[in-house]
Amino acid sequence: MSIVTASLGFPRIGPRRELKSALESSWSGKTDQAALVASAKDIRAANWQRQKALKSVASNDFSLYDHVLDTSAMVGAIPAIYGWKGGPVSLDTYFAMARGAQGAAVCEHGHVHETGKGVPAMEMTKWFDTNYHYIVPEFVRGQEFALSTSKAVDEFREAKALGIHTRPVLVGPVTFLKLGKSKDETLVPLSLLPGLVPVYVEVLKQLAAEGADWVQIDEPVLVLDLDDSERAAMSLAYQHIAAALPSSLKVLVATYFGELGDNLDLALDLPVAGLHVDLKRGAGQINDVLDRARGDLVLSLGVIDGRNVWRADLEAVLDQLEPIIEERGEDKIIVSGSCSFLHVPIDLDQETKLDSDVKTWLAFAAQKIEELSILGRALDGGRASVVEELKSSSEAARARTKSPKIHDPAVKARMQALTPDHAKRVAFAERREAQRAAFNLPAFPTTTIGSFPQTEEVRKARAANGKGALSDADYAAFLRKETEAAVRWQEEIGLDVLVHGEFERNDMVQYFGEQLSGYAFTQHGWVQSYGSRYVRPPIIFGDVSRPAPMSVEWSSYAQSLTKRPMKGMLTGPVTMLFWSFIRDDIPRSETCRQIALAIRDEVVDLEKAGITIIQIDEPAFREGLPLREKDWKNYLDWAVESFRISASGVMPSTQIHTHMCYSEFNDIIDSIGAMDADVISIETSRSQMELLDAFRTYKYPNEIGPGVYDIHSPRVPPASEMSDLLDKARQRLSPDQIWVNPDCGLKTRKWDEVRPALENMVAAAKKLREPA
Ligand code: GLN
Ligand code: ZN
Repeated sequence: MSIVTASLGFPRIGPRRELKSALESSWSGKTDQAALVASAKDIRAANWQRQKALKSVASNDFSLYDHVLDTSAMVGAIPAIYGWKGGPVSLDTYFAMARGAQGAAVCEHGHVHETGKGVPAMEMTKWFDTNYHYIVPEFVRGQEFALSTSKAVDEFREAKALGIHTRPVLVGPVTFLKLGKSKDETLVPLSLLPGLVPVYVEVLKQLAAEGADWVQIDEPVLVLDLDDSERAAMSLAYQHIAAALPSSLKVLVATYFGELGDNLDLALDLPVAGLHVDLKRGAGQINDVLDRARGDLVLSLGVIDGRNVWRADLEAVLDQLEPIIEERGEDKIIVSGSCSFLHVPIDLDQETKLDSDVKTWLAFAAQKIEELSILGRALDGGRASVVEELKSSSEAARARTKSPKIHDPAVKARMQALTPDHAKRVAFAERREAQRAAFNLPAFPTTTIGSFPQTEEVRKARAANGKGALSDADYAAFLRKETEAAVRWQEEIGLDVLVHGEFERNDMVQYFGEQLSGYAFTQHGWVQSYGSRYVRPPIIFGDVSRPAPMSVEWSSYAQSLTKRPMKGMLTGPVTMLFWSFIRDDIPRSETCRQIALAIRDEVVDLEKAGITIIQIDEPAFREGLPLREKDWKNYLDWAVESFRISASGVMPSTQIHTHMCYSEFNDIIDSIGAMDADVISIETSRSQMELLDAFRTYKYPNEIGPGVYDIHSPRVPPASEMSDLLDKARQRLSPDQIWVNPDCGLKTRKWDEVRPALENMVAAAKKLREPA
């Protein structure tokens, strides 16, 4: 016997972003789909090879776009507008669901019409409290399910052909339904469970026939607040699955991102062979799990952090694991990552520029696999068999806590001196008056969210500058040219509040992280945000401060080109926190306040430089919301306070904007009100302005820009469509509150899409200004 070590999933993007290249070249028609399929296969093979040291490796964790979308395709939950007629789901259909498509639209009855209007993408939202976005499954009354892709089986077979026996992973049926929605609000997705479970049974039978002995079914909804009917659905689903399951196949239900809490007994009682629990986010549950688990239940213990980049203290982990294994028996324990490694970068060994101390404190996915393997060897052969590895792990842990690189007395002193006054401005009514006098904007002012297309040219110039092939002076000249062209064009089409375009920024968090102390950044540490869009989160390792202005030069330059207001553009403290890998040695709230002070310094400096409209983006504000409602208030209090600290150093006449995307506001509207930004822009176009109901009910007094242009799709919305959306907004808000803007920044779009779309947007705003 030996202990089973396992990973719940591995990043799919490839160490050098191979998947992105393959997708984008296929989407643009440069290569055909066969090339994409071949690249995907290479990535999978490489991933399995990397994990060979583990006893149990996942398959079907790969996805061309998103694993929840894969599940919709697998069970044939494909909205009628995509024109699918049953049978295998083509890649064209799959990508149309993911990204929308130009060209023919198919109506609910399957007829093709309105050629040229295209089909919109499906809705997208955040996967639990991560920065990964999934495509929201969509259901209709009478929804039928049928097994429609063979991906899970194909990938199992593919690994088998390479000599690797995998544990296929599926998004569980209850999680899948609970994360989905229906346009018909009276339809409760979970009521569709009886029709869905047979599809899962069919997949499981096929996997068993191929020789799978374990399958991992992810039910992370078990760490959420569930109501009685949801709990009942969970039991029912697994009773049905257990009854139909081939005897050769065992199910491991995986939970992660938190502790099971009041769902613990429910989870332990499921009629399955194994349960995975997260012992990083849910460290406190271990004793209850051990006390209450039936003796024959295999417990998969998530001890290596899948959500953060810190190296584990392996001796401490072994101290915890050894007695548990002694007690339960090694065949009843699996040693595992806390969740899929999807949320961490792939390989630390690719980093050549990290501070050498900081680097010894880190572990990315490949290193985490190695940590699991060391744990396995220590548990099988005794600690003596891995003496060197364990010593290096403990030394790194000790060195990190003591390092002067993480403690800055000046930052600590400023934190001590913080008072409630740092988070106060005068009342909104007073500010609004001062701002109206200062800006004299038309009704329904138009603006954009900040970034303009990061074209091939822009990215090439940045890359060349990074490699030293383009001098700093030439690069700056190039960026000035791009910025100037963007400013001129915005004036030409008649936008009211301009932006400089963010051409100098690689990423909204990384750009600032690179200029703050306490942050480290990587060269290849990409993590998937959605589809082919990846981010490279900085790593906050120490106390944060701002040694020098970060954005003042670019904003001032852009303002010097125009008489119209130029909006300064910053990333807010909450987003800087959540889109970075954060310290695990001090509370998050403390790091957030440190960042808030740094951003506040920047806001004040922008104002001094004559920038009188400043946007502090907080797209991660809602994502930071803890998964359990009992933890919300505490989070919201410090998050709102941090935003206010960053925004409150300026005069009443200086207009503070904030921006949030993909957010649902119902449950946080009080806090949005408490943030008290003068203007908030939000994503609303895909949800048909539904999000505004929360603002109406709350009687939100400040100004709002509800997005009218879905920037996640290449599709160009006609002016009439945006006018319709604005009419819907007008039914919910007072006209003098409304701004007109896209859903989000335009960096991922092409100028050919952005130009007509924004011209249409300005036309829609102008139409609104006409007397009725
Ligand atoms: N200002 C940023 C941009 O326009 C905001 C991006 C975001 O909210 N995700 O790109
Ligand atoms: Zn946004």
